[in-house]
Amino acid sequence: MKILVINSGSSSLKFKVYNMPEEKMLCSGLIERIGEKTSRLIYKKEDLELIHEESIESHEKGLTIAVRFLMNKEYGVISSAKDIMTVGHRVVHGGRDFFDTVEIDEKVKFDIERLFSLAPLHNPANLTGIEVAEQLFPHAKQIAVFDTSFHQTMPEKAYLYALPKDMSEKYAIRNYGFHGTSHKYVSEIAQKMLNKKDSKIISLHLGNGCSVTAIENGKSLDHSLGFGPATGLIMGTRSGDIDHSILPFISKQYGISIDEIEDILNKKSGMLGLTGKTDMRDIVDAAEQGNKDCQLALSMNAYRIQKYIGAYTAAMNGLDALIFTAGIGENSAYIRNEVCKNMTYLGIEIDEFKNNRKIVSPVDISNSVSKVRIFVIPTNEELEIAKQSYNTMTN
Ligand code: AMP
Repeated sequence: MKILVINSGSSSLKFKVYNMPEEKMLCSGLIERIGEKTSRLIYKKEDLELIHEESIESHEKGLTIAVRFLMNKEYGVISSAKDIMTVGHRVVHGGRDFFDTVEIDEKVKFDIERLFSLAPLHNPANLTGIEVAEQLFPHAKQIAVFDTSFHQTMPEKAYLYALPKDMSEKYAIRNYGFHGTSHKYVSEIAQKMLNKKDSKIISLHLGNGCSVTAIENGKSLDHSLGFGPATGLIMGTRSGDIDHSILPFISKQYGISIDEIEDILNKKSGMLGLTGKTDMRDIVDAAEQGNKDCQLALSMNAYRIQKYIGAYTAAMNGLDALIFTAGIGENSAYIRNEVCKNMTYLGIEIDEFKNNRKIVSPVDISNSVSKVRIFVIPTNEELEIAKQSYNTMTN
C-alpha cells in the first residue's frame, strides 16, 4: 500500500511516500516559502534531488505541483493519484478528544478547527493540508495523526495546573504535550532494545523545539511542554520554564502587552536570547573558542535537562534508559556528554568513544558499568505517521 504522509505548516509543506508495510520510503519533498515569490519545491528520490522554483501562492498549488512530480514517468513513484490509497496527516493538536489516530470525516475536521485557539500556528495549516489532499486524492482515505495523542495517558496529577478548578475545566487548560509522534517512535525502538517487559524510559527530543517525556511501560507519564509548546527545556528561541512573575514585571518596565511578551518568550529568548545564536553547532563552536556567553548558555541548557532527568526518574521511581533524539540529540556528542556528566548517582555513565562516533542508526552509548542504558535513536515522525495510518487502515 502506498501512503502519502503530509506535514503541512503555515508556509511550508513536507511530504513523503512510503510503501507499507515494508516501511520503504519511495520519495520525499519540501515545498517552502508558500505565498512568497521565492517559493520552491525540493523533490528527492534516492540519490536524485530536483529543485523546482516557481511562485507558489497556496498549499493547493504546491501540492498540485508535488503530484506532478510524484506522477512523472522518469522519476515519479505513482502512475495516477489513485495509486495513493491513504494520506496520513500530521495534526499538532488533538485537544482532549483524540486519544488515537483517526480516519478523517467532517466531524474530525470540525474538531480540528474547533482546536484552532489551542494551536493557532499549526492546526489551521494542518487542516488546509487535509482539505487540499481531499481534492487531489479523492479516492484515498485521509488519516489524522495527532502530536498530542501519545500524551493522553498522562495522569491528572501530571497534566493539571494548580489554577482555579473552574477556570481549568471551563477552558480545558491542562498539559497537552507535544512531539508525541517522535517520543512514541523512539521509545518503541528503545523498548525493543531493552528487551524487557516493564520499562522506565526518559526520552529527550532535542531539536529546534525541545521536550522531555517520562515513559513507563510504553505510556507517556509526564512531559515538559505543556498547554503550549513553551515550558520545560531551554530551546532555540523559547525560554522554557520561567517564573510567571517576570511577565507582569516586564510588562510594566517596558510598557508592553501580553502579546509582545509572548513574542519575546517564544521568538527572542532561549539560546538566541542568551547568545545571539540559534544553531547549536555555532554555539558549541563559539564556546570551544572561549565565548563566555555560549559557555554559560550551554551549561544552563544541560543543567535544565539534568533537572528534568532527576525529576522524571523520581516520578517513575527508577530509570532503565535515556534516549537522545532529534537534530541536537542525534548529532551533538558535546551536548550528550554535558547532559550525562555528574549523573553517576542515578547510574548514568556515558562511553566517550561510543558517543563520539557518527551515529546513523539506533545505538547504545552507555559504558559497561552504567546502570542506565543511554540510547541515541534517530527520530522519524513521517514513518511513524505512515505506520499509524497503515495500522488504522488495516485493523
Ligand atoms: P530539528 O528540529 O530536529 O531539525 O533540529 C534542529 C537543530 O539541530 C538545530 O538547532 C541544529 O543546530 C541542531 N543540529 C543539527 N546538527 C547538529 C550538530 N552536528 N551538532 C549540534 N547541533 C546540531
